[in-house]
Amino acid sequence: MELIFELSSAGKRGDSLPESNFNIKKRIPIEFLRKKPLQFPEVSESEVARHYTNLSSLNYHIDKGFYPLGSCTMKYNPKINERIASLDGFNSLHPYEPIEMCQGALRIMYELKEYLKEIGGMDEVSLLPTAGAHGELVSLFIAIKYFKEKGEKRHKVLIPDSAHGTNPASSVLAGFEVVPIPSNEYGLLSIDSLKKHISDDVVCLMLTCPNTLGLFEREIETISRIVHEKGAILYLDGANLNAFLGLVRPGDMGFDIVHFNLHKTFSSPHGSGGPGGGGIGVKKFIEPYLPIPRIEKNNNNYYMDERTGRSIGRIHSFYSNFGVMVRAWVYIRMMGSDGLKKVAQNAVINANYLLSKINKYYDVPYGKGRCMHEFVASCEFMRKYGIRALDVAKRLLDLGFHPPTIYFPLIVKEALMIEPTETESQKTLDSFVKAMLRIRQEAEESPDTLHNAPVKTPVTRLNEVKAAKEQKVNWYYQ
Ligand SMILES: *Cc1c(COP(=O)(O)O)cnc(C)c1O
Repeated sequence: MELIFELSSAGKRGDSLPESNFNIKKRIPIEFLRKKPLQFPEVSESEVARHYTNLSSLNYHIDKGFYPLGSCTMKYNPKINERIASLDGFNSLHPYEPIEMCQGALRIMYELKEYLKEIGGMDEVSLLPTAGAHGELVSLFIAIKYFKEKGEKRHKVLIPDSAHGTNPASSVLAGFEVVPIPSNEYGLLSIDSLKKHISDDVVCLMLTCPNTLGLFEREIETISRIVHEKGAILYLDGANLNAFLGLVRPGDMGFDIVHFNLHKTFSSPHGSGGPGGGGIGVKKFIEPYLPIPRIEKNNNNYYMDERTGRSIGRIHSFYSNFGVMVRAWVYIRMMGSDGLKKVAQNAVINANYLLSKINKYYDVPYGKGRCMHEFVASCEFMRKYGIRALDVAKRLLDLGFHPPTIYFPLIVKEALMIEPTETESQKTLDSFVKAMLRIRQEAEESPDTLHNAPVKTPVTRLNEVKAAKEQKVNWYYQ
């Protein structure tokens, strides 16, 4: 595509404003005036409109097609969320607005917090962390203070080897030592290993449930008992909440802290590091340590409690990503409790439907043909044709799909992690299966088609090593 500067032709205008009678030279001292006019592109209104419309469709996005990016829960983002979040009263609100002037915004935060308490089976919620990873970090800061007050010295965080990379990253940032717990032959947390590693040195077990293989930790009650017997905290990485939303509650399973990924489970657009919401739900004994400010209600007045008390203090300027909270609130209100249950049920049905089709052509090493909301296939068997998971992912781009997550979790070789979400139709899932079957055949018959893919995208196969080493824009286009 041409740059808008390349569309420019001298003298062309996109507006037809009358001549201004404002005499710049009289009003602004001469030394502040530009010597030469700025080099803006000179284009017509229709050229601008077409240019940006075309640009907006170059990138793949959820409004364009299927996005089975495992672990990310790339569900459709209902447009009503955007409509409500962009109401003037919300998006023009200033963080220093007097409290009487923003009662509606506070009410949304308060109610969202109440909904998440109910969904999580938790005693209190803080909406302040801005992403899942931030929720992890804040929870670990809380753990530091909690054990300090108890006069206990603990320094280890137990993390299953199937965990998301943010879990060990947050633990190291918080100053802890990470102890990986191997998965057993079923892809679940090994109870024997847990027993071996649990001790009075352990801060918490960070567990993802269902785990990143899309498998529910069946022994969660035993796990909870083992962790709590040693006085450690049981932490849920709640990124996979979409699998049991409204059906099971983390609090009832024994978790002491859970982070919610509002941008995943509750349908805010995400990706490319955009704003997120990583609020945490906690049990009563953790509540005093939650960050400030806290949103409270007195009769019908909402307010921010800024008192520190035993809190870990502030973790963010102002009140975090409010727009994401509005979207999550709208989503929950629109779905209602029955709707939220159906989200989880349909997410699981969709994933199992896809699994039952895909495992005819690809290996799915764990789960014995069953999963929760996602599953992990392996392309290891394709290596004999010289094909890797990366090639499959690139070829999917040519066939009109966003690829699955690849090479994660680390315990599956040549992993393709597929999460269809509840918002896709059977027809879409079938067309994806067809593409996956075709790729499987191409791997055998014409492997170069895969090596060269993608050829239909605006940017074709990247030289990724070069792109990482030499960060000059031109290198991205071979
Ligand atoms: C997405 C994800 C995270 C991190 O959440 P962010 O909101 O991206 O920081 C952690 N764990 C799992 C399993 C995830 O899928």
